[in-house]
Amino acid sequence: MAQQQWAVAVHGGAGGLPKNLPPEELKKIQDTLRTALETAGQMLEGGQSSLDAVEAAVKVMENSCVLNAGCGAVLGHEGFAELDAAIMNGKDRAVGSVAAVHQLPNPIAAARLVMEKSPHVLLVGDGAEKFAVAQGLSLKPREYFITARRKAEWQRAIDAAGSKGTVGAVALDKSGNLAAATSTGGMTNKAVGRVGDAPIIGAGTYAENGVCAVSATGHGEYFIRYTVTGDICARVKYKSEPIDKAARMVIDDLAKVGGTGGVIALDAKGNIAMPYSTPTMIRGHLKAGGASNVVVEAALP
Ligand code: ASP
Repeated sequence: MAQQQWAVAVHGGAGGLPKNLPPEELKKIQDTLRTALETAGQMLEGGQSSLDAVEAAVKVMENSCVLNAGCGAVLGHEGFAELDAAIMNGKDRAVGSVAAVHQLPNPIAAARLVMEKSPHVLLVGDGAEKFAVAQGLSLKPREYFITARRKAEWQRAIDAAGSKGTVGAVALDKSGNLAAATSTGGMTNKAVGRVGDAPIIGAGTYAENGVCAVSATGHGEYFIRYTVTGDICARVKYKSEPIDKAARMVIDDLAKVGGTGGVIALDAKGNIAMPYSTPTMIRGHLKAGGASNVVVEAALP
């Protein structure tokens, strides 16, 4: 049987980048997405699983300090980062999520441990951090997550309704397995204890072999209420809709009720769709067969 051609897509959040963003920072965002894609691409080319690839891609973005995940995440109402993340393996629909964690530099790694080393699917707050430490991860001081840009955004409370920059990855490996991962600091100035869509399966993250893998970004409350990623895959599964149509319809319908954002979606054949209803979405994709397929956009609104 012919091997599946691998594919990977990543996002760095919907919304828009501030007009006054220094060009060096814009370049760093583009470089980060490219590194995330190339890291995942090399793993997939080498025969590693889509699950490993999406985790690695998200870690690159969490460590960049220029996106809304890990270091550089937006700050909540009390001025510190509160992070959510999820990972899903389309092969067996295994899931791990963490929510409202404050000191884990790579929430996606903790989510993977929840999936593989606990009988649960979602751990929150102190319990999630204690579990992750017991599994060998280390904590960072809360200051580690705070960048000058996020502090200024928070102080001005310029974007209380939704500073974006969440990260996500979806991948298809050579064995035909789909996986999805999403990691975020949520929304600027959010209430302490607020959990968004990223760690909620079927809302911000979903993967099912033979169907699709999706990672979302946008106004999380809407993505939860309208089960966005689950709905996209259900349309593909039950209506045999092409992935681009399914993803576009769900994002357009959500915008009609006031929920803006976007998704990266990948089907079992490696087709990629990246619709959004915000002015832009930071995104990129890479497929087997050459670096020329890399597309990274971080357009200013
Ligand atoms: N969806 C994320 C949340 O609501 C935010 C984002 O994508 O920017 O937590």
